[in-house]
Amino acid sequence: MRAGIVALQGDVDLHERALKRYKPDIDVVRVKTEEVLEEIDLLIFPGGESPTMSRLMDRFNLREPLLKKITEDKIPTLATCAGIVLLSNLKEDDGRVKPFGILDVVLVRNGFGRQRESFEGEVTVKFDKREQVVTGVFIRAPRIEKVGDKAKSIAFLGKEVVGVLQDNILALTFHPELSDDTEIIYKKLFSLAAG
Ligand code: GLN
Repeated sequence: MRAGIVALQGDVDLHERALKRYKPDIDVVRVKTEEVLEEIDLLIFPGGESPTMSRLMDRFNLREPLLKKITEDKIPTLATCAGIVLLSNLKEDDGRVKPFGILDVVLVRNGFGRQRESFEGEVTVKFDKREQVVTGVFIRAPRIEKVGDKAKSIAFLGKEVVGVLQDNILALTFHPELSDDTEIIYKKLFSLAAG
């Protein structure tokens, strides 16, 4: 199995380490050009700064190829933090991020406010038959305001939704690559990729 990590900006190395922790034989490539997309079985959209990533996607001519890969080829995709911002709809357009709007959620960027810019919390992850508490690392995280009918809520911080699954897209507002108890999330991603 080969994973591609969108490598425009952000925490690419830590995602590679996490993928290999849970699947030692996985191949990992960095996605900076369209051609690489042909070779991969799953995609990681990492955190970073979504305005920068949005701009670089255009500069590297990756916007359309990524959109096609996710929506038409339906490649299993894990989006984290700025990654979920880029796939969702924003409550308010600040003109700096052009999200794809393919994930049926409405987000507020940096929605936890200054007091809670970065924090760790116990996140309950629920898939059909499995449920597990993992450490959620939130770094200037977006906040999910609304989950539409197409997306299923799968991760909760108290009552608040912090992760969704929509078809081939697993999207989280926290960073699963920064804690070592998030295997349940990667297992789900690998099972989507295994078909
Ligand atoms: N606040 C960032 C944004 O909206 C996301 C931060 C992150 O990915 N850790 O782009």
